[in-house]
Amino acid sequence: MSTTFEGTPASPGIVIAPVRVLRWELPKVPRTGIIAPGEIDREVERLYEACEWARDRIRSVQSRTAERMGEAEAAIFDPQILMLEDADLVDAAATLIRENHLPAERAFEWRVLEWESQWSHAAHPMVMDKLADLADVQGWVLRRLLDLPDPAIFDEDDGPVILVTRELSPGLTAELERERVVGIATDLGTRTSHGAILARSLGIPAVVNLGACSDVVQNGQEVILDGRTGHVIVDPSEEEKAFYRERDFHLRNWEQELLVLTHLQSKTADGKHIDLRANIDLPSEATVARDNGAEGVGLFRTEFLVVGKHASPREEEQYEAYRSVLDTFNGHPVIVRTFDLGGDKFPAFLHMPKEDNPFLGWRAIRVCLDEPELFRMQLRAILRAAPHGDLRIMLPLVNEKAEIDATREIIEETREELRSEGHTIPENVSLGIMIETPAAAMSAVELARAADFFSVGTNDLVQYTLAVDRGNARLAHLFNPFHPGVVRLLDAVARAATSEGIEAGVCGELASHPLGTFLLVGMGYDSLSVGPASLPEVKKVIRALDTGEARKAAREALQAADADEVIRILRAHLPRELDLSLFAGSWNLTPDAVTS
Ligand code: PEP
Ligand code: MG
Repeated sequence: MSTTFEGTPASPGIVIAPVRVLRWELPKVPRTGIIAPGEIDREVERLYEACEWARDRIRSVQSRTAERMGEAEAAIFDPQILMLEDADLVDAAATLIRENHLPAERAFEWRVLEWESQWSHAAHPMVMDKLADLADVQGWVLRRLLDLPDPAIFDEDDGPVILVTRELSPGLTAELERERVVGIATDLGTRTSHGAILARSLGIPAVVNLGACSDVVQNGQEVILDGRTGHVIVDPSEEEKAFYRERDFHLRNWEQELLVLTHLQSKTADGKHIDLRANIDLPSEATVARDNGAEGVGLFRTEFLVVGKHASPREEEQYEAYRSVLDTFNGHPVIVRTFDLGGDKFPAFLHMPKEDNPFLGWRAIRVCLDEPELFRMQLRAILRAAPHGDLRIMLPLVNEKAEIDATREIIEETREELRSEGHTIPENVSLGIMIETPAAAMSAVELARAADFFSVGTNDLVQYTLAVDRGNARLAHLFNPFHPGVVRLLDAVARAATSEGIEAGVCGELASHPLGTFLLVGMGYDSLSVGPASLPEVKKVIRALDTGEARKAAREALQAADADEVIRILRAHLPRELDLSLFAGSWNLTPDAVTS
């Protein structure tokens, strides 16, 4: 009998192959006693030599990655190199040798643990990426200090295999050979982890976040891995294999179909243009977003500038980041969201207090307004970048008109300050808000009078409306954006924006679900913003739908008694030509809704 694991799809493609389990562990540091005073200088020297060596090794992986995949992928290794140049890591470990008389390997391990403890109370993917980078760095340095070989991945006689491991480090992934490793399955990790990004660049299908998969499967067992649904089937039957082979065939055709769409307009079948934009987490994603057909950036998350950093980001660094995305989008709108900190994103330098309910706590716009230095620095960088394109500013988690007014005041003061320094700053930089709470949705008319545009963050709106933690895997089945409570709030927001004459957009995950796209266009939303990979699928839905039919479906959905009924209504009105089982964006619905 087969066993199925469900994880997070990280790199598309279906493969059937035997498993190779890689049990990768950080080197164990022997618990030897303290060192004699006469040994201190030698240990400090060993520490610096090992860090230098690790940096060289990472640089050589980086240059091979640049040759194999490109500069953007090679840049993934920059944070690791920066860590090894950070005095707060390396010099602080040397201080531990000098003051606590620890051997070099124990001092380094100790300092890494201290770094981790500053970050690890947050389970945000960005923090987890930093932790994975740090673990990679730790592995290199400790192997050098302890004189250990690199971990071996393969036996000589291994054929093509699906690699199963606990977590994928970027260093390991970048060195994988496409011919030998045809799929990757990991217990931990996220879609946005560096390992997953590299797997996508290498074109290796991957599923992450599979729980205890690597403890259960054995070398040589046959596995089907579906990088679109996140399913990993161990010891599949002949019928299951036949089903997946056929699915693979259909998906390959589907991907060809989507490719053609990138250059076509984002217009409904009856001719209404929907602004289709991209959500990006890093400036380096802008090019992919543009190449996938984005007409701008609907959500530029800026937390990468602060999360896991030990000092607040410099104005110049921020300016360069905003400017580079504006340059890529050459006159199309780029919506920069101000720092959305707190919740699950805690930069070490802000010393944020530990809270019982961080998602109901000091986060997003509340932090921005309470930390004027950080906020003003960000607004200075944003305003300086503004003349280089159609830049718009967006505030996260707004509940009060006063939060918009206060921000406008700061923007005014910042503009004057910059002008007095000789900068040319445009007069009207658009200031919009995210609608992410039921309170904001219910007072959307009043907020629309103060804001220049709305963008609904459905990820948070669903979390706060349903009281379901968006990151809690146990409650994932309850995190349903088609709940009538959410649907009615979405409708109220669209109506408020229309009546007050401002743009209504959505930038949460719901926009990338085919039924979500259909519903939102039916409600009258003018712009949708989704992850770069989802753009072609969303365009496919937009081009197939008729706004009259979508409006009718949305009106009916507003009367539904529960989420299942909403889904049934939307499916009944969805254009027949759309086969939901082919959409990567529909994987997170109930299986019944996807396949029936
Ligand atoms: C959202 O909440 O839907 C959103 C787009 O913002 P984030 O996912 O960054 O919280
Ligand atoms: Mg949000």
